Amino acid sequence: MLAMVKGDGYGHGMIETAFACHDAGCRLFGVAELVEGIKLRKTGIGGEIFVMVGFAAEQIDYFFSHDLTPVVFDKDLVKKLSERAVKKGAELTVHLKVDCGMSRLGVEPEEVKEFAALIEELPGLKLGGVLSHFAAADDVSSPITEQMFTVFQKVCEGVEDSLTCHIANSGGIINFPKTHGKMARAGISLYGYPPSGEKEQAVVGEGELIPAMTFSSRVVMVKTVGKGAGISYGHTFITTRETRLAVLPVGYEDGYPRSLSNCGVVLLHGKRAPILGRVCMNLTMVDVTDIEDVKIGDEAVLMGKQGEEIITADDIAALTGTISYEILCMLGNNNERVFVE
Ligand SMILES: *Cc1c(COP(=O)(O)O)cnc(C)c1O
Repeated sequence: MLAMVKGDGYGHGMIETAFACHDAGCRLFGVAELVEGIKLRKTGIGGEIFVMVGFAAEQIDYFFSHDLTPVVFDKDLVKKLSERAVKKGAELTVHLKVDCGMSRLGVEPEEVKEFAALIEELPGLKLGGVLSHFAAADDVSSPITEQMFTVFQKVCEGVEDSLTCHIANSGGIINFPKTHGKMARAGISLYGYPPSGEKEQAVVGEGELIPAMTFSSRVVMVKTVGKGAGISYGHTFITTRETRLAVLPVGYEDGYPRSLSNCGVVLLHGKRAPILGRVCMNLTMVDVTDIEDVKIGDEAVLMGKQGEEIITADDIAALTGTISYEILCMLGNNNERVFVE
């Protein structure tokens, strides 16, 4: 199992996530960019670190100095990696990316054999594996995964058996067990979310996925406004009764989507408090008329559990037209993080 810790661990902290996974026995890590791989290796973590989204010729030295595994899909860069390896008297393992239908990174399936042979011929390089990426494995009923996997299997049959072929993301891991192969790359599921956003999918094997991240704030002001009061910028909400408001020091600057204006909800005293009016850059007003004794300093949970109630990244994503991945990155990467075991 490879732990995908790109995007600063999907907002959860790349280093903390990687160490938690390392403690659990994981020795394979995936990042998107080289700079993330360098940062992770500098922590002294063991195991193999894959750099997924490519690199520039000027950056090649870092793969050697920080013992990183490049994912490759360009012949010129592969030749440059080999030249470097020879100069340093080193050997570098690379994995070859193939595009099985995502139309994103990777060489064409027909090119794999020749490309793999080139890597094997080039001094100083070792081909460790071949990988691809699913376009729609979050959808259990989509035929796309089957089609892509058929292409990938054919590619894998054409290369040495000793190579590690890997394609499964969280969708593959949860929905298509036959795609696991020797290695699978878990991202969103590591953080406690199903890739599809569907609750039924949150139950995997024997266990249930438990969302790892909570996003909370504290009430900075409570006030009562009369009937007919316009709330926040543009007065997009007008009260229809005397209304008690709690003001939260959270806004879109903190990654809390402005599109939650007049439709989002937060938890206070274990109850649901709807957002009234627009979410501002740094402030949001919620209705606490029906929640007793809300005071300055009370904890408001904007994502997570409080009492019996829960707001998930999928709930927020559904209201804002996106996916949990984006909500987790936005909230996690724009706020102070506190880690609890
Ligand atoms: C992000 C990523 C994954 C993990 O995807 P999830 O849907 O989050 O599980 C796997 N492989 C590659 C190449 C990725 O970029």
